[in-house]
Amino acid sequence: MRISVIGTGYVGLVTGTCLAETGNEVICVDIDEAKVERMRNGEVPIYEPHLELLFERNIKANRLKFTTSLDEGLAHAEIVFLALPTPENEDGAADLSYVLNVVEQIGKKITDYKVIVDKSTVPVGTAEKVHAIIAKHAPCEFDVVSNPEFLREGFAVDDFMKPERIIIGSSSERATALMKRLYSPFVRSGNPIIVMDEKSAELTKYASNAFLATKITFMNEIANYCEKVGADVDKVRAGMGTDSRIGKRFLFPGIGYGGSCFPKDVKALKKAGSDENYNFKILNSVLEINSDQKIILLPKIEKFFNNDLKGKTIAVWGLAFKPETDDIREAPSIDMMNGLLELNAKLQVFDPEAMPNIKKRFGDKLHYSESMYEALEGADALLICTEWSIFRTPDYSRLKNALNNPVIFDGRNLYNVSDMEAEGFTYVSIGRKAVN
Ligand code: NAD
Repeated sequence: MRISVIGTGYVGLVTGTCLAETGNEVICVDIDEAKVERMRNGEVPIYEPHLELLFERNIKANRLKFTTSLDEGLAHAEIVFLALPTPENEDGAADLSYVLNVVEQIGKKITDYKVIVDKSTVPVGTAEKVHAIIAKHAPCEFDVVSNPEFLREGFAVDDFMKPERIIIGSSSERATALMKRLYSPFVRSGNPIIVMDEKSAELTKYASNAFLATKITFMNEIANYCEKVGADVDKVRAGMGTDSRIGKRFLFPGIGYGGSCFPKDVKALKKAGSDENYNFKILNSVLEINSDQKIILLPKIEKFFNNDLKGKTIAVWGLAFKPETDDIREAPSIDMMNGLLELNAKLQVFDPEAMPNIKKRFGDKLHYSESMYEALEGADALLICTEWSIFRTPDYSRLKNALNNPVIFDGRNLYNVSDMEAEGFTYVSIGRKAVN
């Protein structure tokens, strides 16, 4: 099938590449000329495991092309995916300007039947809006489909190639049939393609993200309470997770959720609710708790240094909002580092993939280290913000030798408390006994 993907970011590039992998001819369109140039030169502009192999293979096979021209994208395709940003507006609502501007152009440019597929995360009613805008201009038949994306950064290729479900929001039989044909290679193991109306599809995405953000936040509250009463959140988690109604996943406490999706999507759903005079009380709490949780280790670090961080150096391991990505959007590391800088601490930071993005934001306010161990050299404490695998089994004696004090503030509960005690570390984590 002939596909175009408008917007070649984390979602668009993975969508385009994976659709090419099943034999479709794909053109990816982006307004960022430099990015398009890099992709044309065979460079993957983001870090996403397993993407490069598929990217190279499909470019070589002439099934995956890149352009800055929307005209070229539209002329090529019968199915046009929108994978455009929907960032947060000042009032918390999703900013639809990227999507609606492109849609306006699509309406003016199309001359034959196309399915316009919205993959961006958009509020309920957007498909209707998109339909109305295109209908104003288009001289031909077209359909609008809501097809929210559930991939996780870091696992995006796997998630796209083997999705747990595909959601198709469509009231058109013709468009639904095309979408089912396009996606059939991805659900051969029997996972469902669930067809529903456009509004329900749009809400399914927000409801899923808001639920997951709530699940994490609930466990963070339980962890905070564990610290008050001397319970161990690891044990509580293990006990809870064996209940199949609860499940084992998304029960790990830490310094809050971040990323390009949960923060903005929770706010957008809350705002969409308030626009309809519906107060999402649970989401208000989730937002409040998460912003406190991101800096929950700050007062603990201050206390350790007797409220005087001036001249102290903190090593920071992990800057990305989660492992296996270079994405730093809304990363808890940012809140922690801003807090520490305000307290006049010096920061020596390391992340396997996110350093260039952090450099763009923090410039020379931080010292950027070449390795996890270099970041420790002469530091007074170690702070862990992201659970990259390489941090999980460090050389403890190297760690102790490099640090001025053997002290670790672990925002991701990477280590066993009793191991840390035996190794002689001061160890502060989330929802577990602190070792002094
Ligand atoms: P992104 O910021 O990584 O990529 C967006 C791309 O769109 C950029 O390359 C940008 O240059 C391009 N763009 C902007 N305006 C354009 C225009 N007029 N024409 C062509 N290209 C244009 O965004 P993303 O993370 O891929 O997210 C896209 C959408 O998917 C959002 O709505 C997001 O909420 C949703 N989503 C994201 C994820 C995720 O994990 N990142 C997962 C599911 C859903």
